[in-house]
Amino acid sequence: MPVTIQDVQVIVTQPAGSRLVIVKVVTSEPGLYGLGCATFTQRYHPVVAAVEKHLKPFVLGRDVSRIEELYRMATVHSYWRNGPVLNNAISGIDQALWDIKGKKANMPLYDLLGGKCREAAAVYVHADGRDAYEVEDNVRRFMAEGYHYIRVQMGGYGGRSDMPPRPDGSPDGHYYDPRAYMRNMLDMIDHVRAELGDEVELLHDIHERLQPIDAVQFAKDVEPYKLFFLEDALAPEDIEWFDRIREQCATPLAMGELFNNPREWQPLIAGKLIDFIRMHVSQMGGITPARAVADFAHMYGVRTAWHGPGDTSPVGHAANLHLDLWAPNFGIQEWCRFPALVYDMFPGLPEVRDGYMYPNDKPGLGIDIDEELAAQYPPVDEVEFWTQTRWPDGSPARP
Ligand code: MG
Repeated sequence: MPVTIQDVQVIVTQPAGSRLVIVKVVTSEPGLYGLGCATFTQRYHPVVAAVEKHLKPFVLGRDVSRIEELYRMATVHSYWRNGPVLNNAISGIDQALWDIKGKKANMPLYDLLGGKCREAAAVYVHADGRDAYEVEDNVRRFMAEGYHYIRVQMGGYGGRSDMPPRPDGSPDGHYYDPRAYMRNMLDMIDHVRAELGDEVELLHDIHERLQPIDAVQFAKDVEPYKLFFLEDALAPEDIEWFDRIREQCATPLAMGELFNNPREWQPLIAGKLIDFIRMHVSQMGGITPARAVADFAHMYGVRTAWHGPGDTSPVGHAANLHLDLWAPNFGIQEWCRFPALVYDMFPGLPEVRDGYMYPNDKPGLGIDIDEELAAQYPPVDEVEFWTQTRWPDGSPARP
């Protein structure tokens, strides 16, 4: 008798800023269940509905072992496809089924994937500051804690600078000046390198906030500082410009947290136009497509750098870690440093020591959720402000 899916539950909680969506797949085997990340924090209501109203009836009674088939069928079952809502919903099921498969086999997921290439995953953390001196102080603090890879930003995405006057009547929003941002970031990175030397690995995320030709210029200008990578130099809509950057400098490039479909990676990887895949694993549909893209990237010398912000749930971070430990082409893992409450809520959340993230040896994803504690932190609905981003003249820009 195959073990079958008996129930699918969705848990939404907000312990630390982001609304987190966790899918729990309950099986016919008493006590056997799996967890998956379905977190799309800005639009979580439709993800919950997609799981409860559409995917749950579709998967109930099915054999838990047939992950590949379920993933393939789930991605086309709605006929209309490739959207972040449905992909996150599918990821919740997909990751939970991998968790279940590991528990059934009594193996951690990294063992199921092929076994460990490394004992722990090197992580990078985020340093910010109001000016270059504060960024430097924060980088020093992380270095003292044992981190070797540090992303440097200044004033958040888009930077902070004196803004040209807005047109009268301009709406509120998160304004930024892309040309000032370019100048200020180069000054900041120059300062941090000069003060801290070449050994610490520095990263920077443009967050798709420049015009394509300015991104080309920035990638060239920052080349002497030897970043570990420059992230999202271009928006998904502008990927044709990657060859312009590539032909002019050797700044390593990371891309893709906003991609929805595995095939979006194909031209960038096969064209050797990027160096790191910044996949948001739940946004792509789960571990099944992530593993496929990682294998494909390996053939072209492109490394992994799974997206690991605070709006990836702890379950999603655990999934990232298992992929990190297995992937022969692992590059780096982003890490958001959850507070103690999140560790209490998600027993088994990976520990980070001296810049490395370590797994536990529990089967499956090795992470659980305290549902009673999660229920004490219900999600709060609000209209997001930071994504209401505007150019100096008030027109809408990418966040
Ligand atoms: Mg990013």
